[in-house]
Formats: sequence, C-alpha cells, structure tokens
Amino acid sequence: MSELEKKLKDFLELKKQYDHVTTLLYWDMETGTPKLGQQAHVDALTYFSTRSFEMGTSDELEQMLQALSEPKEYEALDDTMKFIVTRMKRDMDKDKRIPKDLFEAFVRAQAEAGNAWRDAKNASDFSMFAPHLEKMIEMRKEITGYTDPGKEIYDALLDNYEEGMDTETIDHLFGDLKKELIPLVKQILAAKQPDDSKFKGHYDVDAQKKVQNLLLDYIGFSKDAGSVGETEHPFTLNFNSKDVRVSNHYYEEEPLFAMFSAIHEGGHAIFEQNVNPAYDNTVAGSCCYMGVHESQSRFYENILGRNKNFWLPIYDKLGELLPQFKEITLDEFYHEINHVRNSMIRTEADEVTYCFHIILRYEMEKAIFRDHVPVEKLPELWNEKMKEYLDIVPANDAEGILQDMHWSDASFGYFPSYLLGSIYDGMYLEELEKELGSVDELLAAGKIREITKWLNQKIHWYGSTRTPKEVIANVCGKEVSAEPLIRYFKEKYSKLYDLNV
Ligand code: ZN
Repeated sequence: MSELEKKLKDFLELKKQYDHVTTLLYWDMETGTPKLGQQAHVDALTYFSTRSFEMGTSDELEQMLQALSEPKEYEALDDTMKFIVTRMKRDMDKDKRIPKDLFEAFVRAQAEAGNAWRDAKNASDFSMFAPHLEKMIEMRKEITGYTDPGKEIYDALLDNYEEGMDTETIDHLFGDLKKELIPLVKQILAAKQPDDSKFKGHYDVDAQKKVQNLLLDYIGFSKDAGSVGETEHPFTLNFNSKDVRVSNHYYEEEPLFAMFSAIHEGGHAIFEQNVNPAYDNTVAGSCCYMGVHESQSRFYENILGRNKNFWLPIYDKLGELLPQFKEITLDEFYHEINHVRNSMIRTEADEVTYCFHIILRYEMEKAIFRDHVPVEKLPELWNEKMKEYLDIVPANDAEGILQDMHWSDASFGYFPSYLLGSIYDGMYLEELEKELGSVDELLAAGKIREITKWLNQKIHWYGSTRTPKEVIANVCGKEVSAEPLIRYFKEKYSKLYDLNV
C-alpha cells in the first residue's frame, strides 16, 4: 500500500468516527431521548455531522483523491479502492460546484419547508405549504444547474436516487404497467371482495412484538448484527454491516401493519447486513440506489410475504402468539393481505394499486419540472389524476397532495424508486425460479433462507459497487422490463379473484 493510500485510509477512518456518533445520536433521538434531552442531542449531532461534512469537502481530501486518480497511483490500487476513489472524486466534484451560500440557504429552507409541511398537513391547507414548495422546486433547479450542467433537470434528479434511470426508460416501464393494470384493477374491483370483518379486534402489542421477532428471524435478519426499536414511522438505519437497526410501530387495532412493516424493513436490513464487510463505512458499502434498496424490502414484503406459502410453516405459531388468528383460516388471511382497494393513502395501498400511487407522483413531478405547471395548480392536478387512476377524489389536501413528506425536503425524483423496485422484483422472481425452482414450493417447505442466500449472493454482497442497471444485467442477463411484474400480477390476482385474464 502506498503512503498516499494509507493516508487516505487513516483520513476515512477518522471521518468514520464522526459518522458513527452522528448515526447513533440520530437513532437515539428517534427511539428514546426524552423531550428535555433533545436539545443537547441536536447540539452534539450538529457538531459531529459538521465535522464530518468539513472533512468530506476539505481541500486535504480533494488533493488526496486527485493524486490517487493519477494513472500510476490508480493502477496500484485494488478494485475496491479504485471504486472508492473514483466515486468519492465524482461526488466531491459535483458537490464542490454548489456555491456554499446557496447550499446553506437550501439546508435552512429545507428545515422551514419541513415544518410548514407538517403544519399545512395538520390544518389540511395546501396554501400554507405552497410558497415553501415553490422555493424547494426553484432551489432544486438551481442546485441541479450547478451539479449537472447541461443535463435535463428531471433526468438529473432521477439519477440522484437511481443512477442511470431517466424519463425515457421510466415512461416506457410505467406506460406498460398502466396499459395492463388499469383493466386488471377494474376486473378485480368488480369481483367478489374478501370479508375483513374477522380481523377487527384488539391485538396485544407485546404479542405483536413477538410476532415481529418471529418474522425477522424467519426471513434471515441477524439479531447479532441488528436490533429493533419503536418509532412513529418504521425505518432502517445502518452503522455498517455488523450493526443494522430497524424500527416499527404497533397499532392495537391493526396487527397487519407491524407484521408487514417488519418484513419490509427486515428486507432493507438483510441487504445491509450482507454487504461485503470489506466495504464497511465507505462509499462502496451501504447500497445508495433507492430503487435497488426498495427492490429488496418489497421482495420480502410483497413477493414473499404476500404469498400464501410464506405463512404455511409459521401460521400456527402466529395463532399461538395472537389467538385471534386461530379463528381466521390461512386462506382468509391470504385473501385479506392481498385485498385490492382504491385508497387515498399510498402507504396503506395494496401491492397492485400501489403502482398507480407512484405513477401519479411521477407524472406530477414531470408536470412540475418539464411542463412547469404552477404550484397553485398542483392540488387540482393531483385530484384529477386520483380520479383517473383510482376513481376516488381526496376530500381534502391532507389525504391528497399533502400526504407524503418527500417534496418538503426537495426529494424530487425519489418516488419512482418504489415502483422501480417492484419492477426489478418481477425480474428477480423469474430468474430465481429458473435457478432454484418454484418459490411456492420453497416457501411451503420452509426454505425461505435459501431464497435469502440467493439474494445475498446475487445482490446484497455488492453494496453500491454495481449500479442498478449492472445489478439487473448481472442477476437477470437482460434489460429492465415491466413484463415479469405484469405477469406476476395477472397470475396471482386472477386466481385470488377468480378472474379470466
Ligand atoms: Zn422501504
């Protein structure tokens, strides 16, 4: 190892300490810091994250990366270090083009927009959020002009979250889905619907936590390299591959929420726990592609978790922990966890109509960044699209355009990742069955860990070192297509709802 490479490694090792403390403070604030202790945590968090940011944008780091990029130095690096140097240099070059005062103003405006969004949502009044949204849009455009000069803005935004994705590709994928799913959902909704009355009741929270632990263990979440906390909204947070935290929320009347959140976050966590440990705490570790990440959480939640055979080996245990399920047959349970309904809220949607919630948001973002639709017209456009895709109209802004927080921190371009994840899942499923045989049979035989192992080897191990398109090409040997997902929906739901498709 050259002197220079050693110097970079020492530098990153020190930066890692600041990041570790930052992550820990954040986790503690979300899961356990008492109200009066919050301010001291915020102060410490600001201190440590600022130190890390300063190191990450310092001239010292820039000079090291520059020197290591010179052919003679670069060629002597191993593949992991080559990736780290190239990626860090690319990201740094982008970030450094943003004027410092613009970046600071953006961070401040983001915080204000976040607060305004919460207030507006509580009051169900879009006009309170509108000026902040406008500011977020303008600032995002301005920043993108610096980071990606000459590039079409919305394409650059998509690329931020799912490298290599652009509107042309997504138009094509989502267009195929729309064409097939609109008539499919019409048929489903016209068919006989499952009876959900048996699910009503009171479900003990301690027992729900036991079910969650059972599920996490079942799918392959390592308790030695992870733990569970309780938060308002479930999420996953990782320090490195040896310490990945998931959180959950428990509703006494809604046992399915915590169960499927556990499986979803468990999928994110299994990903992070199985990245090559040599990548820990570098840009090579912790997958940074949101579509690829969602493809794992959603594979566990939907493709596996909403398959009847997933539950076959553990359904009796579920009944032991939550006795209400003894009164519900596995068949009734299976129908309810796949109950298709046109609903207002994205996060509560079934896996089929969920696609429309994302297509709608994607089209809204295109309207904002390509067609320059003014902000005050957005609620109307939202409601028109809800009517078009889901045949329902929000009664107010809170259950309409204000329901998600993503636009309040300018995360434009993020939403499509969720559906891209499901599209990838259709492709993985097809390939997995080619290699390992029927998923139904594997699940029924309690061999879900074999599926986890396959995902570990094919996807998780590589962390961020493979871009989304490279992941798909390596796993499936072809380009991204929505066809397998469409086929999966048609096969599954024609049986569930007794349809002729
Ligand atoms: Zn997720």
